[in-house]
Amino acid sequence: MIIRARTVVTMDGTPIENGAVGVSGDRIVDVGKFDEIKARDASEIVDLGEQALLPGLINAHCHLDYTCLRAKIPPQNTFADWIRAINTEKAKLSAKDYVASINEGFVEVKRFGTTTIANLTGLPEFVQQIRAPIRTWWFAELIDVRTPERASELVDLATESLGSARPEPVLSEVKGGAPWGLAPHALFTASKDLFRRCEEVARRKNILLTTHLAESREEMEMFREASGPLYEFLREIGRDVSDCGDQTPLGHFLGILRDSSTSLGSARNDKKASTDGHKWIIAHLNELADRDFELLEKSNIKLHIVHSPRSHDYFRHSRFSFERLRGLGFNVCLGTDSLASNESLSLFAEMRAFQKEFPSVSPEEILQMTTKNPARALRQENALGRIHPGFRADLIAVPSSQGGDPFGEVVAFDGEIDWIMVG
Ligand SMILES: [Zn+2]
Repeated sequence: MIIRARTVVTMDGTPIENGAVGVSGDRIVDVGKFDEIKARDASEIVDLGEQALLPGLINAHCHLDYTCLRAKIPPQNTFADWIRAINTEKAKLSAKDYVASINEGFVEVKRFGTTTIANLTGLPEFVQQIRAPIRTWWFAELIDVRTPERASELVDLATESLGSARPEPVLSEVKGGAPWGLAPHALFTASKDLFRRCEEVARRKNILLTTHLAESREEMEMFREASGPLYEFLREIGRDVSDCGDQTPLGHFLGILRDSSTSLGSARNDKKASTDGHKWIIAHLNELADRDFELLEKSNIKLHIVHSPRSHDYFRHSRFSFERLRGLGFNVCLGTDSLASNESLSLFAEMRAFQKEFPSVSPEEILQMTTKNPARALRQENALGRIHPGFRADLIAVPSSQGGDPFGEVVAFDGEIDWIMVG
Protein backbone atom coordinates (compact mmCIF):
# COMPACT_ATOMS: atom_id res chain seq x y z
CA MET A 1 0.00 0.00 0.00
CA ILE A 2 1.18 3.54 -0.78
CA ILE A 3 -0.01 6.40 1.39
CA ARG A 4 0.37 9.80 -0.24
CA ALA A 5 0.08 13.16 1.52
CA ARG A 6 0.88 16.83 0.80
CA THR A 7 3.75 16.54 3.29
CA VAL A 8 5.44 13.59 4.95
CA VAL A 9 7.00 14.59 8.26
CA THR A 10 9.44 11.71 8.72
CA MET A 11 11.26 13.10 11.81
CA ASP A 12 14.40 12.19 9.87
CA GLY A 13 15.11 15.73 8.67
CA THR A 14 13.29 18.01 6.23
CA PRO A 15 9.65 17.07 5.57
CA ILE A 16 8.97 15.68 2.08
CA GLU A 17 6.58 17.76 -0.07
CA ASN A 18 4.14 15.64 -2.11
CA GLY A 19 5.51 12.63 -0.29
CA ALA A 20 4.46 9.04 0.14
CA VAL A 21 5.06 6.07 2.40
CA GLY A 22 5.06 2.46 1.24
CA VAL A 23 3.58 0.02 3.76
CA SER A 24 3.67 -3.74 3.67
CA GLY A 25 2.23 -5.82 6.50
CA ASP A 26 2.87 -3.90 9.71
CA ARG A 27 6.04 -2.22 8.40
CA ILE A 28 7.08 0.88 6.53
CA VAL A 29 9.01 -0.31 3.48
CA ASP A 30 9.62 2.88 1.54
CA VAL A 31 9.46 6.65 1.98
CA GLY A 32 10.12 9.50 -0.44
CA LYS A 33 8.58 11.65 -3.19
CA PHE A 34 5.22 10.33 -4.35
CA ASP A 35 6.31 10.10 -8.02
CA GLU A 36 9.36 8.04 -7.15
CA ILE A 37 7.53 5.67 -4.83
CA LYS A 38 4.77 5.17 -7.40
CA ALA A 39 7.35 4.35 -10.07
CA ARG A 40 8.82 1.48 -8.03
CA ASP A 41 5.65 0.18 -6.37
CA ALA A 42 2.43 -0.66 -8.20
CA SER A 43 0.31 -1.32 -5.10
CA GLU A 44 -2.91 0.38 -4.01
CA ILE A 45 -2.69 4.15 -3.38
CA VAL A 46 -4.40 5.89 -0.49
CA ASP A 47 -4.29 9.64 -1.12
CA LEU A 48 -4.73 11.65 2.08
CA GLY A 49 -4.74 14.95 0.15
CA GLU A 50 -3.99 18.19 2.00
CA GLN A 51 -2.53 16.50 5.06
CA ALA A 52 0.77 16.04 6.82
CA LEU A 53 1.56 12.39 7.45
CA LEU A 54 3.68 11.83 10.55
CA PRO A 55 4.66 9.08 12.99
CA GLY A 56 2.01 8.21 15.57
CA LEU A 57 2.61 10.06 18.82
CA ILE A 58 4.09 8.41 21.91
CA ASN A 59 2.83 9.33 25.37
CA ALA A 60 5.73 8.79 27.78
CA HIS A 61 3.74 9.01 31.02
CA CYS A 62 0.09 8.35 31.67
CA HIS A 63 -2.27 6.71 34.18
CA LEU A 64 -5.32 5.49 32.25
CA ASP A 65 -6.64 4.14 35.59
CA TYR A 66 -7.82 7.67 36.34
CA THR A 67 -9.60 8.53 33.08
CA CYS A 68 -12.85 8.45 35.05
CA LEU A 69 -11.56 11.17 37.42
CA ARG A 70 -11.73 13.90 34.76
CA ALA A 71 -12.82 17.18 36.39
CA LYS A 72 -13.38 15.43 39.73
CA ILE A 73 -10.50 17.09 41.61
CA PRO A 74 -10.19 20.88 41.45
CA PRO A 75 -6.71 22.31 42.19
CA GLN A 76 -5.98 22.02 45.92
CA ASN A 77 -4.02 24.25 48.29
CA THR A 78 -1.28 21.70 48.80
CA PHE A 79 0.06 18.62 47.03
CA ALA A 80 -0.76 16.61 50.15
CA ASP A 81 -4.38 17.76 49.88
CA TRP A 82 -4.45 16.58 46.26
CA ILE A 83 -3.23 13.13 47.39
CA ARG A 84 -5.97 13.08 50.03
CA ALA A 85 -8.54 14.06 47.38
CA ILE A 86 -7.47 11.41 44.87
CA ASN A 87 -7.40 8.78 47.62
CA THR A 88 -11.02 9.67 48.49
CA GLU A 89 -12.03 9.30 44.82
CA LYS A 90 -10.09 6.04 44.43
CA ALA A 91 -11.84 4.54 47.44
CA LYS A 92 -15.13 4.78 45.50
CA LEU A 93 -13.84 2.74 42.54
CA SER A 94 -14.14 -1.01 42.02
CA ALA A 95 -11.83 -3.12 39.86
CA LYS A 96 -14.57 -3.08 37.19
CA ASP A 97 -14.63 0.74 37.26
CA TYR A 98 -10.86 0.82 36.75
CA VAL A 99 -10.97 -1.55 33.79
CA ALA A 100 -13.75 0.58 32.21
CA SER A 101 -11.69 3.70 32.91
CA ILE A 102 -8.59 2.24 31.22
CA ASN A 103 -10.59 1.19 28.15
CA GLU A 104 -12.20 4.63 27.93
CA GLY A 105 -8.73 6.20 28.18
CA PHE A 106 -7.42 4.10 25.30
CA VAL A 107 -10.24 5.37 23.08
CA GLU A 108 -9.36 8.96 23.97
CA VAL A 109 -5.58 8.73 23.48
CA LYS A 110 -6.10 7.10 20.09
CA ARG A 111 -8.54 9.84 19.04
CA PHE A 112 -5.72 12.32 19.68
CA GLY A 113 -3.22 10.46 17.53
CA THR A 114 -1.33 8.46 20.15
CA THR A 115 -0.16 5.09 18.86
CA THR A 116 2.15 4.11 21.74
CA ILE A 117 1.78 4.74 25.45
CA ALA A 118 3.78 4.18 28.61
CA ASN A 119 0.94 3.53 31.00
CA LEU A 120 1.19 3.14 34.76
CA THR A 121 -1.45 1.02 36.42
CA GLY A 122 -2.23 0.17 40.01
CA LEU A 123 -3.96 -3.01 38.77
CA PRO A 124 -1.33 -5.14 37.04
CA GLU A 125 -3.40 -8.24 37.77
CA PHE A 126 -6.16 -6.96 35.44
CA VAL A 127 -3.96 -6.18 32.44
CA GLN A 128 -4.69 -9.62 30.98
CA GLN A 129 -8.35 -8.60 30.62
CA ILE A 130 -7.59 -5.51 28.57
CA ARG A 131 -7.13 -5.51 24.80
CA ALA A 132 -5.12 -2.37 24.21
CA PRO A 133 -5.85 -0.81 20.78
CA ILE A 134 -2.41 0.83 20.61
CA ARG A 135 1.13 -0.23 21.57
CA THR A 136 1.27 -0.23 25.34
CA TRP A 137 4.13 -0.49 27.78
CA TRP A 138 2.44 -1.40 31.05
CA PHE A 139 4.16 -0.30 34.25
CA ALA A 140 2.94 -1.70 37.58
CA GLU A 141 2.63 1.21 39.98
CA LEU A 142 3.84 0.08 43.38
CA ILE A 143 3.18 1.70 46.76
CA ASP A 144 4.18 0.19 50.11
CA VAL A 145 3.96 3.26 52.34
CA ARG A 146 1.45 1.56 54.64
CA THR A 147 2.95 -1.95 54.26
CA PRO A 148 6.74 -1.65 53.91
CA GLU A 149 7.15 -5.24 55.10
CA ARG A 150 5.46 -6.36 51.86
CA ALA A 151 7.88 -4.57 49.49
CA SER A 152 9.36 -7.69 47.87
CA GLU A 153 6.05 -9.50 47.74
CA LEU A 154 4.37 -6.57 45.92
CA VAL A 155 7.15 -6.39 43.34
CA ASP A 156 7.06 -10.14 42.77
CA LEU A 157 3.28 -10.24 42.35
CA ALA A 158 3.37 -7.43 39.80
CA THR A 159 6.27 -9.07 37.98
CA GLU A 160 4.29 -12.28 37.74
CA SER A 161 1.16 -10.51 36.47
CA LEU A 162 2.83 -8.37 33.82
CA GLY A 163 5.47 -10.92 32.89
CA SER A 164 2.80 -13.47 32.03
CA ALA A 165 0.31 -11.10 30.35
CA ARG A 166 -0.22 -11.76 26.64
CA PRO A 167 1.04 -8.86 24.56
CA GLU A 168 -1.43 -7.38 22.09
CA PRO A 169 -1.09 -8.72 18.53
CA VAL A 170 0.35 -5.42 17.31
CA LEU A 171 3.16 -5.87 19.79
CA SER A 172 3.97 -9.39 18.82
CA GLU A 173 7.55 -8.64 17.84
CA VAL A 174 9.06 -6.08 20.13
CA LYS A 175 12.81 -5.97 20.34
CA GLY A 176 14.74 -4.16 23.05
CA GLY A 177 13.09 -5.86 26.02
CA ALA A 178 9.59 -6.81 27.13
CA PRO A 179 6.83 -4.20 26.76
CA TRP A 180 6.33 -3.77 30.48
CA GLY A 181 8.10 -2.50 33.52
CA LEU A 182 7.84 -1.55 37.16
CA ALA A 183 6.96 1.82 38.67
CA PRO A 184 7.85 2.35 42.32
CA HIS A 185 5.42 5.27 42.69
CA ALA A 186 7.66 7.89 44.34
CA LEU A 187 10.29 8.20 47.05
CA PHE A 188 7.65 9.29 49.54
CA THR A 189 5.29 6.31 48.92
CA ALA A 190 7.69 3.49 47.99
CA SER A 191 10.37 2.22 50.38
CA LYS A 192 14.04 1.90 49.55
CA ASP A 193 13.60 -1.88 49.67
CA LEU A 194 10.90 -1.64 47.05
CA PHE A 195 13.10 0.48 44.78
CA ARG A 196 15.97 -1.97 45.23
CA ARG A 197 13.79 -4.98 44.47
CA CYS A 198 12.57 -3.26 41.27
CA GLU A 199 16.18 -2.61 40.25
CA GLU A 200 16.97 -6.27 40.83
CA VAL A 201 14.03 -7.48 38.70
CA ALA A 202 14.86 -4.95 35.97
CA ARG A 203 18.40 -6.32 35.67
CA ARG A 204 17.22 -9.90 35.68
CA LYS A 205 14.38 -9.45 33.17
CA ASN A 206 15.74 -6.58 31.10
CA ILE A 207 12.69 -4.39 31.70
CA LEU A 208 12.23 -0.65 32.14
CA LEU A 209 11.61 1.29 35.33
CA THR A 210 9.77 4.54 35.93
CA THR A 211 9.01 6.72 38.93
CA HIS A 212 7.74 10.16 39.93
CA LEU A 213 10.68 12.21 41.20
CA ALA A 214 11.11 15.74 42.57
CA GLU A 215 7.62 16.65 41.45
CA SER A 216 6.54 19.22 44.03
CA ARG A 217 8.02 21.85 46.34
CA GLU A 218 6.50 19.85 49.20
CA GLU A 219 8.51 16.76 48.23
CA MET A 220 11.68 18.89 48.32
CA GLU A 221 10.66 20.33 51.70
CA MET A 222 9.92 16.87 53.06
CA PHE A 223 13.26 15.30 52.15
CA ARG A 224 15.52 18.29 52.64
CA GLU A 225 13.97 19.91 55.69
CA ALA A 226 11.74 17.23 57.27
CA SER A 227 8.79 19.61 57.27
CA GLY A 228 5.80 20.77 55.27
CA PRO A 229 2.34 19.42 54.40
CA LEU A 230 3.52 16.30 52.53
CA TYR A 231 5.93 15.40 55.34
CA GLU A 232 3.17 15.82 57.97
CA PHE A 233 0.64 13.84 55.94
CA LEU A 234 2.99 10.88 55.43
CA ARG A 235 4.16 10.92 59.05
CA GLU A 236 0.51 10.79 60.13
CA ILE A 237 -0.21 7.72 58.02
CA GLY A 238 2.77 5.94 59.57
CA ARG A 239 5.62 6.38 57.10
CA ASP A 240 9.06 6.04 58.68
CA VAL A 241 10.38 9.57 58.10
CA SER A 242 13.90 8.98 59.42
CA ASP A 243 15.20 9.42 55.86
CA CYS A 244 14.02 13.05 55.81
CA GLY A 245 15.84 16.25 56.76
CA ASP A 246 19.03 15.83 54.80
CA GLN A 247 19.13 15.20 51.07
CA THR A 248 17.07 16.42 48.13
CA PRO A 249 14.76 13.90 46.41
CA LEU A 250 17.23 13.59 43.54
CA GLY A 251 20.10 13.02 45.99
CA HIS A 252 18.09 10.20 47.56
CA PHE A 253 17.30 8.65 44.22
CA LEU A 254 20.91 8.68 43.04
CA GLY A 255 21.84 7.11 46.38
CA ILE A 256 19.41 4.24 45.76
CA LEU A 257 20.87 3.66 42.29
CA ARG A 258 24.37 3.66 43.75
CA ASP A 259 23.45 1.28 46.58
CA SER A 260 21.66 -1.24 44.40
CA SER A 261 24.44 -1.13 41.87
CA THR A 262 26.97 -1.91 44.62
CA SER A 263 24.86 -4.60 46.27
CA LEU A 264 24.23 -6.26 42.93
CA GLY A 265 27.95 -6.50 42.46
CA SER A 266 28.39 -4.21 39.47
CA ALA A 267 31.66 -2.44 38.98
CA ARG A 268 31.10 1.25 39.52
CA ASN A 269 32.40 3.49 36.81
CA ASP A 270 31.16 6.32 34.63
CA LYS A 271 30.00 4.07 31.87
CA LYS A 272 28.03 2.02 34.36
CA ALA A 273 26.33 5.10 35.78
CA SER A 274 25.30 6.07 32.32
CA THR A 275 23.80 2.69 31.43
CA ASP A 276 22.10 2.34 34.84
CA GLY A 277 20.14 5.48 34.19
CA HIS A 278 19.03 4.26 30.79
CA LYS A 279 16.39 1.95 32.12
CA TRP A 280 14.80 4.73 34.22
CA ILE A 281 12.09 6.99 32.82
CA ILE A 282 11.75 9.79 35.33
CA ALA A 283 8.49 11.70 35.50
CA HIS A 284 8.65 15.38 36.47
CA LEU A 285 11.99 16.50 37.96
CA ASN A 286 10.43 19.91 38.53
CA GLU A 287 12.16 20.72 41.80
CA LEU A 288 15.94 20.69 41.61
CA ALA A 289 18.38 22.51 43.84
CA ASP A 290 21.74 23.83 42.60
CA ARG A 291 23.46 20.94 44.33
CA ASP A 292 21.24 18.55 42.34
CA PHE A 293 22.66 19.91 39.11
CA GLU A 294 26.16 19.46 40.52
CA LEU A 295 25.29 15.86 41.40
CA LEU A 296 23.94 15.23 37.92
CA GLU A 297 27.03 16.66 36.29
CA LYS A 298 29.33 14.59 38.50
CA SER A 299 27.37 11.34 38.20
CA ASN A 300 27.48 11.27 34.40
CA ILE A 301 24.08 9.55 34.56
CA LYS A 302 21.79 9.88 31.55
CA LEU A 303 18.09 9.73 32.37
CA HIS A 304 14.95 9.87 30.30
CA ILE A 305 12.74 12.64 31.67
CA VAL A 306 9.02 13.16 31.13
CA HIS A 307 7.57 16.62 31.42
CA SER A 308 3.77 17.01 31.60
CA PRO A 309 3.17 20.69 30.85
CA ARG A 310 -0.55 20.87 31.66
CA SER A 311 -0.37 18.79 34.84
CA HIS A 312 2.61 21.00 35.76
CA ASP A 313 0.40 24.10 35.36
CA TYR A 314 -2.43 22.50 37.34
CA PHE A 315 -0.13 22.01 40.33
CA ARG A 316 1.68 25.36 39.84
CA HIS A 317 5.08 23.67 40.18
CA SER A 318 8.33 25.61 39.82
CA ARG A 319 9.44 26.30 36.26
CA PHE A 320 10.67 23.12 34.52
CA SER A 321 14.45 23.38 33.99
CA PHE A 322 14.22 22.30 30.37
CA GLU A 323 17.31 24.10 29.08
CA ARG A 324 19.59 22.91 31.87
CA LEU A 325 18.40 19.30 31.68
CA ARG A 326 18.71 19.26 27.90
CA GLY A 327 22.16 20.79 28.30
CA LEU A 328 23.15 17.83 30.49
CA GLY A 329 22.23 15.50 27.62
CA PHE A 330 18.99 14.16 29.09
CA ASN A 331 16.31 12.77 26.81
CA VAL A 332 13.27 14.98 27.44
CA CYS A 333 9.86 13.55 26.48
CA LEU A 334 6.28 14.73 26.97
CA GLY A 335 3.43 12.92 28.69
CA THR A 336 -0.12 13.75 29.66
CA ASP A 337 -0.04 12.29 33.18
CA SER A 338 -3.61 11.46 34.26
CA LEU A 339 -7.00 13.14 34.05
CA ALA A 340 -6.85 13.58 37.83
CA SER A 341 -4.61 16.59 37.04
CA ASN A 342 -5.28 17.26 33.36
CA GLU A 343 -8.19 18.07 31.04
CA SER A 344 -7.59 15.67 28.17
CA LEU A 345 -5.21 12.98 26.98
CA SER A 346 -4.09 14.98 23.93
CA LEU A 347 -0.34 15.16 23.29
CA PHE A 348 -1.03 17.96 20.80
CA ALA A 349 -2.35 20.01 23.72
CA GLU A 350 0.80 19.13 25.68
CA MET A 351 2.99 20.28 22.80
CA ARG A 352 1.09 23.58 22.62
CA ALA A 353 1.37 24.07 26.38
CA PHE A 354 5.11 23.36 26.18
CA GLN A 355 5.46 25.88 23.34
CA LYS A 356 3.72 28.52 25.42
CA GLU A 357 6.13 27.84 28.26
CA PHE A 358 9.24 27.67 26.03
CA PRO A 359 8.54 29.79 22.92
CA SER A 360 12.15 29.72 21.76
CA VAL A 361 12.16 25.93 21.29
CA SER A 362 11.50 25.01 17.65
CA PRO A 363 8.31 23.11 16.72
CA GLU A 364 10.53 20.36 15.27
CA GLU A 365 12.24 19.85 18.63
CA ILE A 366 8.87 19.88 20.40
CA LEU A 367 7.55 17.19 18.05
CA GLN A 368 10.65 15.10 18.78
CA MET A 369 9.50 15.01 22.42
CA THR A 370 6.37 13.05 21.41
CA THR A 371 8.00 10.86 18.73
CA LYS A 372 11.75 10.11 18.57
CA ASN A 373 12.59 10.89 22.20
CA PRO A 374 9.96 8.68 23.87
CA ALA A 375 10.77 5.93 21.34
CA ARG A 376 14.32 6.04 22.69
CA ALA A 377 13.08 5.98 26.30
CA LEU A 378 11.17 2.79 25.48
CA ARG A 379 14.24 1.36 23.68
CA GLN A 380 12.33 1.45 20.40
CA GLU A 381 14.48 3.99 18.56
CA ASN A 382 14.89 1.50 15.72
CA ALA A 383 11.19 0.68 15.41
CA LEU A 384 9.02 3.63 16.47
CA GLY A 385 8.91 7.43 16.39
CA ARG A 386 10.06 8.00 12.79
CA ILE A 387 8.84 7.25 9.29
CA HIS A 388 11.71 5.11 8.15
CA PRO A 389 12.04 1.85 6.17
CA GLY A 390 11.78 -1.12 8.52
CA PHE A 391 9.96 0.83 11.23
CA ARG A 392 6.44 -0.10 12.38
CA ALA A 393 3.63 1.41 10.30
CA ASP A 394 2.30 3.64 13.08
CA LEU A 395 1.12 6.75 11.27
CA ILE A 396 -1.27 9.67 11.71
CA ALA A 397 -2.34 12.60 9.54
CA VAL A 398 -3.23 16.20 10.36
CA PRO A 399 -4.31 19.02 8.01
CA SER A 400 -1.47 20.76 6.18
CA SER A 401 -1.54 23.93 4.07
CA GLN A 402 0.55 24.96 1.10
CA GLY A 403 3.63 26.92 2.11
CA GLY A 404 3.05 26.42 5.83
CA ASP A 405 5.72 25.17 8.24
CA PRO A 406 4.80 21.48 8.62
CA PHE A 407 6.27 21.20 12.16
CA GLY A 408 4.54 24.38 13.26
CA GLU A 409 1.22 23.19 11.84
CA VAL A 410 1.48 19.81 13.57
CA VAL A 411 2.23 21.40 16.95
CA ALA A 412 -0.62 23.89 16.45
CA PHE A 413 -3.13 21.16 15.52
CA ASP A 414 -6.06 21.44 17.91
CA GLY A 415 -8.51 18.66 17.37
CA GLU A 416 -9.02 14.96 16.92
CA ILE A 417 -7.33 12.79 14.34
CA ASP A 418 -9.43 11.45 11.52
CA TRP A 419 -6.81 9.14 10.00
CA ILE A 420 -4.63 6.76 11.99
CA MET A 421 -2.79 3.49 11.35
CA VAL A 422 -1.34 1.32 14.11
CA GLY A 423 0.83 -1.43 12.67
ZN1 LIG B 1 2.08 10.34 37.06
